[in-house]
Amino acid sequence: MRPATSSRRVPERITSLIDGTQVAAGPGGHDMPVVYPYDETTVSLLREADAAEVGRAVQSARNAFDHGPWPRMDAADRSRILFAIRDLLLANAEELAWLEVMNTGIPISHVRGHVQRMARNFSFFAEVANTLSGEVYTQSKGWLTYVTREPKGVAALIAPWNAPLALSSMRIATCIAFGNTCVLKPSEYTPLAVTRMVELCHEAGLPPGVVNVVNGRGTVTGTAMVANPLIDMVGFTGGTHTGRAIMSAAGAQLKPCILELGGKSANIICADADLDRALDGALAGIFSNNGQQCLAGSRILLDRRIADEFIARFVERAQRIRMGDPLEASTEMGPLAFREHLDRVLGYVDVATSEGARLLTGGRRATSMPQGYFMEPTAVLAGSNRARVCQEEIFGPFATFLTFDGVDEAIAVANDSPFGLVCYVWTSSLDAAMRVSRDVRAGTVWVNTPMMRELRAPFGGYKQSGIGRDGATSSAEFFTELKTTTIPIDTPTLPRFGA
Ligand code: NAD
Repeated sequence: MRPATSSRRVPERITSLIDGTQVAAGPGGHDMPVVYPYDETTVSLLREADAAEVGRAVQSARNAFDHGPWPRMDAADRSRILFAIRDLLLANAEELAWLEVMNTGIPISHVRGHVQRMARNFSFFAEVANTLSGEVYTQSKGWLTYVTREPKGVAALIAPWNAPLALSSMRIATCIAFGNTCVLKPSEYTPLAVTRMVELCHEAGLPPGVVNVVNGRGTVTGTAMVANPLIDMVGFTGGTHTGRAIMSAAGAQLKPCILELGGKSANIICADADLDRALDGALAGIFSNNGQQCLAGSRILLDRRIADEFIARFVERAQRIRMGDPLEASTEMGPLAFREHLDRVLGYVDVATSEGARLLTGGRRATSMPQGYFMEPTAVLAGSNRARVCQEEIFGPFATFLTFDGVDEAIAVANDSPFGLVCYVWTSSLDAAMRVSRDVRAGTVWVNTPMMRELRAPFGGYKQSGIGRDGATSSAEFFTELKTTTIPIDTPTLPRFGA
């Protein structure tokens, strides 16, 4: 076990949290190491929840939904607890950020931003739920019909490893703010901060059973969650292939799913753009979060007239990115999340060159770092958008450049993808910006800015990038049931069978 490097300690053991209580790890059972990707040491042991333990967690959420106070509470009381959660999470921000670094290797300067987002998710969706309203119909004379939104039930929520706190909290907050209860599974690679976050939710007053955590692999713990008949709906953030498996399993029981999946988003850089800003945006778009972002601008499409100069400047900056200890405030890029992932991302260098792409920079494990899953910031110039490095999500510090002539071609290339999560465009032409916004088939278009997440607006993907949206209205739609009640105002005449 890795000794603590500061006064903070990683818990020796991570287990499930059911009914507000940490489950003890009994004899037997399957343990997995939790590894710090910066120095490859085991920092904790995760006890995997088997199907029986998942069953207990689901039963706890079911009881909390069917009999507990949470779905029946005055919305103002529920939001008071969600605000208290926000406050307690912020009071413990540094501990949460540190734990997050200890199993993701993401630089602390980025993680601090994730922690702020996590806290905001709880207060934002409390506000949304507090202002939810229904519908009333009086057009049918003599009748009053009203439509109410009710909590939908018990959710299985499954989260990835690339931004565990920000993404798990989004899943939880969108679910419980509307009176639902849930069982959450963080990624088996990154359980540390998420499990602590849910502990803190209970300390802030969340009733037991509303949020349960089970830890373990997707193929064991995750499949047991989705298959459990007491689960009413599934919220998933992760890879497209996993989303497909989850939706098939959920479909067998007609469980609705919200799926936030992968991307291969185009970053279109026109010749008339402010190229200094576009360069900053392109670097941030692919190398933030150690290159592991669903919304990365991983296909950088350059107007041919500026391509050579832009690539030269991009390469020069990429080679100067500060890699190092994720706990150092000045570190810009840390290691990839785990060894198999590093190997997978490195494998795309051979894929690229064997398909005729030109390696522009990087392409190797970073030898400047004696240990850890570090990869040099990498960029290739592809010959065609049909190349695998243009069509497949690589999910690492790996930029793929293409060139285009005219905005029509850029739009066509952007759309020639199985994915459709986001699109970036850099231009000073209003026409070009509006045409990209109208014609690119992606859930979000960012004009002259890197990622800016407006929580009020829907976020999600077209095509293989997902189904459904997170956002004020869209989350309310997924996580509530609509109920129509009709009452006569004038006594209606009834048929009198058998009279
Ligand atoms: P992943 O699909 O491998 O795993 C995600 C989660 O699903 C993990 O908790 C895993 O244990 C679980 N899982 C795996 N197989 C399962 C199964 N059969 N049944 C139930 N659960 C299962 O994804 P990842 O590698 O952790 O994350 C990276 C992916 O997530 C990338 O593709 C990225 O684009 C995507 N992502 C999307 C968004 C978005 O908002 N669209 C955000 C972040 C990440």
